[in-house]
Amino acid sequence: MVNSIYSSVRLRVRSGGVLSEAFDNHLGVKQGEPLSPLLFLFFINDIIQDISTDVNEDVISLNGILIYLILFADDTVLFGKTPTVLQHLFDKLLLYCNKWNIEVNADKTKVVVFRNGFRPVDTNFYYDNKELQVVNSYVYLGVLLHYNGKFLHTQKRLAQQGSRAMSSLMNSLKQFFITPEEQMFLFDSMVGSVLGYASEIWGFHRAKDIELIHNRFCRFVLKLGRNVPTCFLYGELGHLPLFIVRKQKILKYWLHIITNKPKVVYDVYKLLYDDAINGYVNWASNIRDILYDLGLNYVWLNQDATTICINTIKTRIKDQYLQNWSTSIQECSKLSFYCRFKLTFYIEKYLSYINNVSLLTKLRSGTLKLNIEVGRYNNISRENRLCECCKMCVIEDEYHFVLVCPAYRSVRTQFLPKYYCSWPNDRKLLNILQASSKSLMIKLCNYVKAAWNIRSNIVS
Ligand SMILES: [Zn+2]
Repeated sequence: MVNSIYSSVRLRVRSGGVLSEAFDNHLGVKQGEPLSPLLFLFFINDIIQDISTDVNEDVISLNGILIYLILFADDTVLFGKTPTVLQHLFDKLLLYCNKWNIEVNADKTKVVVFRNGFRPVDTNFYYDNKELQVVNSYVYLGVLLHYNGKFLHTQKRLAQQGSRAMSSLMNSLKQFFITPEEQMFLFDSMVGSVLGYASEIWGFHRAKDIELIHNRFCRFVLKLGRNVPTCFLYGELGHLPLFIVRKQKILKYWLHIITNKPKVVYDVYKLLYDDAINGYVNWASNIRDILYDLGLNYVWLNQDATTICINTIKTRIKDQYLQNWSTSIQECSKLSFYCRFKLTFYIEKYLSYINNVSLLTKLRSGTLKLNIEVGRYNNISRENRLCECCKMCVIEDEYHFVLVCPAYRSVRTQFLPKYYCSWPNDRKLLNILQASSKSLMIKLCNYVKAAWNIRSNIVS
């Protein structure tokens, strides 16, 4: 990877077929100016002719196209299958740069030897008699490429960047009253975009570090602690885990490749496809595994995007996840209360109009510190987790707290409709928790706050 500095050059400008006087330019192109990469490309347009001569052995070849030089703005990558070829390319580059008065920053120029297993690299590489540093990984165009071709470190780096973006978002959010739904929207655009950068390439990785960032933000938005299972967070916010989103993105990219057959990329894909057929595990074999897993074997076998549209694939991926999600909330003992009223995966409406959701989300997730929950951690048997606010000698659970406990009768009649203030039953509790009515949810929220206040005074 070569980092070059454009130093000094004499220029003449042609206008109306007339050339101006020559003048010196010591400044190079302007940093951040959209025109700069284009001007730089004009300037180094002939690099390919100078470097291409007598280089063709031990160079990566794709259907007759030799891949040994990639240019993007002032970033240059040289490839070789052997150390000799790579050194040869460095020497050619030096001749070219000397000819055109371009300076390469050797300190920023690194060599990565891609290989299986950790074998030390015992070859030295030089540019202009200066030894180049051999490193295990390098960030090219924002993506960390590791010597073993795996993406563990790539996702770790993106998670670090995402974490910084998230902290800055959280700080900003503290200054405004924004609903949880809007907060999630901001997360998607300001942090999700960082976490999913270039995931079409690396996204098969489970990327636990990245998922953790997402979980942390969901907890922040719902004001919940670590003890709440992630399937509650996703269900309440109607937010898919990021590995599901990546899967959809990768399949979309695959459809783009087999439909539009972009030059070079499609050639690379065909190589991967052939290797996958021969039993290798690679990007193409991962695509095949996802499609088989979705029951879409024919789509892989046809290799034809007209057999299916991306929305159908996306829906299949989502539906497959929702089946797992539904099983998770039903099998999770902590969510035995939640799974009784949460039947479908979508963002709960109250999150779009209530800002202070803390007590409500705790109540819904079964983590409001009622004795039924606290007793679990204090090893108190279930039948002894009684309400301390009344003399009914019954278990203090969500049902008792919302509809029964006489200690909260006054606030119950103040905030909740009459229907919920007498003849309590289980159906009424589920009914109020599933309410789609905005006014009823606000009433429930106000009731929970007031009742919790009373409880805190009695219990403390
Ligand atoms: Zn009570």
